[in-house]
Amino acid sequence: MFAKNSPIYLDYGATTPLDERVWEAMLPYFQQQFGNPASVHQFGQQAEFALENARRSLAERLGAHPDQIIFTSGATESDNLALRGTAFAERSKRNANHILVSSVEHDAIANTARQLAELHGFEVERIPVDKFGQVQPESLSARLREDTAVVSIIMASNEVGTVNPIRNLAAICRDSGVPLHSDAVQAAAYLPIDVQELGVDMLSLGAHKFYGPKGMGLLYLRDHNLLSPIQTGGSHEFQLRAGTQNTPYIVGMAKAYELLYDEIIDRHAKLAILRDQVIEGVLASISEAQLSGHPNERLPNHASFIFRGIDGNALLMHLDQGGFACSSGSACKTGNPEPSEVLLALGLQREWALGSLRVTVGIHTSREDIERFLEFLPQAIEKSRVTEITA
Ligand SMILES: *Cc1c(COP(=O)(O)O)cnc(C)c1O
Repeated sequence: MFAKNSPIYLDYGATTPLDERVWEAMLPYFQQQFGNPASVHQFGQQAEFALENARRSLAERLGAHPDQIIFTSGATESDNLALRGTAFAERSKRNANHILVSSVEHDAIANTARQLAELHGFEVERIPVDKFGQVQPESLSARLREDTAVVSIIMASNEVGTVNPIRNLAAICRDSGVPLHSDAVQAAAYLPIDVQELGVDMLSLGAHKFYGPKGMGLLYLRDHNLLSPIQTGGSHEFQLRAGTQNTPYIVGMAKAYELLYDEIIDRHAKLAILRDQVIEGVLASISEAQLSGHPNERLPNHASFIFRGIDGNALLMHLDQGGFACSSGSACKTGNPEPSEVLLALGLQREWALGSLRVTVGIHTSREDIERFLEFLPQAIEKSRVTEITA
């Protein structure tokens, strides 16, 4: 997969390389079978056939009906469509003006909620999490109201890897008659998803987190009446998402999900071993280090840490210079570092939250990669110490 001397990629939570088998499945739809699925002629019919096959394949594997799968330009758009679309629909249906989102959402939800409050007058409330980053059922039920339009809770945190008890949370929402959306973008890459079993009303996926193409996503939508479209135009996607479908990418996402579905047990088993190797190695070799997120209920490929008195950005840079591609959970900006909102929501102090590191492994990661990473990490940490801690 990677060239000889290539840096070691430990950032599969950011994106994954396209699977060769996915690439091959996509190719015919760029040139030979280029038709517009909406066209009446044979070119169009061919494309429509591929489109509907992909929809059926994804629906079957997610436990959904094909009509419940809406193709989008990526997970960000799916999140926007779910939150924005239901907020407006529920407001016009029943005057619901209250939105609940967890305090560990990806920006695609967090900033959408923020805009719905600032520009559109919704009352947005953040559901707190425990110190592991998990939403407790009581925290949700205590905040649900008659005028709650929609609830959005991430299935597994991209930042700290914690998996939320979505089934229990969905049951609470269902009892209150409030639609629940879950961003399952990280979760879906390594955990089996069945929307019926989970009981969610909406769920977002993005193909490039599971070895599919970037710029491709879907929204599972239990009932078309739950939302108003946010992108208007033609009657594509059940009149819920206008715009000519990206047939090659849709075929690619379906292929990537088929492969994931068939290989999920092996991937899970392999990755959990590598993840634990990272966690044990880091905690054993670095002083003043803590695992962030949940010790057990976490993604099988996700190890995340906080280090006291370390500049997370400098650490990433030193790791990169040493040939290791990792991520910090936080969105620090050089010059004026701000700790990540998610880490603060876990109750972490600034001097810890500024020194975050996320190591996410994937199907191309080897034991040797991790050994080399663990060997290099202590020197990168030493170089990244902040001399004065401003608490
Ligand atoms: C990556 C990611 C997204 C956004 O995906 P895009 O491909 O950038 O649209 C949303 N939510 C989570 C949890 C993610 O990990």
